Amino acid sequence: MSALEIQHRDPGTLARAGVLRTPHGEIRTPAFVPLATKATVKSLLPHEVAELGYDMVLGNTFHLFLDPGHERIRRFRGLHEFMGWRAPIITDSGGFQVFSMGHGTVADEVKGRAPMGQERMGKILAIEEDGVAFRSYLNGETLFMGPETSMEIQGALGSDIALVFDECTPFNVTREYTQRSTERTHRWLDRCLAWHDARGPEGQLVYGISQGGVHEDLRVESTQAVASRPVDGIAIGGSLGADKPQMYEVVSWATAAIADDPRPRHLLGIGEVDDLIRGVELGIDTFDCAMPTRLGRHGVAVVNDPERRWRVDLTAGRFKDSDEPLLEGCPCPACALGYTRGYLRYLVHARELTGQRLLTLHNLAYLSRLMQRLRAAIAEGTLAATAAALRAGELP
Ligand SMILES: [Zn+2]
Repeated sequence: MSALEIQHRDPGTLARAGVLRTPHGEIRTPAFVPLATKATVKSLLPHEVAELGYDMVLGNTFHLFLDPGHERIRRFRGLHEFMGWRAPIITDSGGFQVFSMGHGTVADEVKGRAPMGQERMGKILAIEEDGVAFRSYLNGETLFMGPETSMEIQGALGSDIALVFDECTPFNVTREYTQRSTERTHRWLDRCLAWHDARGPEGQLVYGISQGGVHEDLRVESTQAVASRPVDGIAIGGSLGADKPQMYEVVSWATAAIADDPRPRHLLGIGEVDDLIRGVELGIDTFDCAMPTRLGRHGVAVVNDPERRWRVDLTAGRFKDSDEPLLEGCPCPACALGYTRGYLRYLVHARELTGQRLLTLHNLAYLSRLMQRLRAAIAEGTLAATAAALRAGELP
């Protein structure tokens, strides 16, 4: 039985709305999932994240493995207790971070992930059939991560949804490399499932990850190969292309290949406003992305501006004397306080923590309302009109 109960389907697209059930509660879908990379949604308290309308957060296997270590988190009775978030948690497999050490790509930027150089991950020493040896960015220690290690870490964290260990194939490799790598990812998928069957925590859901890069046949094959296994959900990962049109095409190949599959689908690392709207239309149930929280910490707010990727950079000097509100009509906790762009610009510029907090709250509130609007529209049968209005820059 699928953990996802599909309650409504949009007649014109693959969009669907429902409820995803996990050991720590339910997620209303489609949903955006904020990052709690290092066991916190940076600068926010768990109840604030919940009050913004979020049902689930994403913890990062790689970073938590390095520090504070999964065994320590196990001693604290798992990630939920450790970080005080008692609602659902999804953990990524660590594959993306491990492989990012070796290759930073254009695709990472398109997907809103950190371009290389911003986030030091360490160094890959060897990729072998068993997994990957790498040097820790913390202390230079040689560490190893493979399918079993990744599942063991996620088991110790006690996440509600675990993602299998995969090679996140970069954008600029050959078709042959992508094919070999995708086949290895499928072998790793079987090893992850075997480990989980024998030793995984009760009730934890396991999602497989579709690879195959930007090659239609490989992407379709990989998605079907993942779906043919007893996975609880299907995540779409790896290189999704060089630009948005190509990304939408790659995602559409994957979801079309499993159009009738009732299991939940997660799109990894995607979170811009237009991408979320399109992703929902393509049949995605959940999304995660560093964008809203990372941009917020760097002084960038999400606003109703389709011409500028829904962004305004408050660090710009022209806002010094601006008495404009951050976003007219926005009901978020930050905007409700009536702060001017001039004040927020000053806070960000002075590196005041309050500035980072206010923009994080605003950005997450915006995306939460966006997803809420899309969920309601699917239920009411008005997705086409709602999507058009949101794309034109209507306040969600
Ligand atoms: Zn706001």
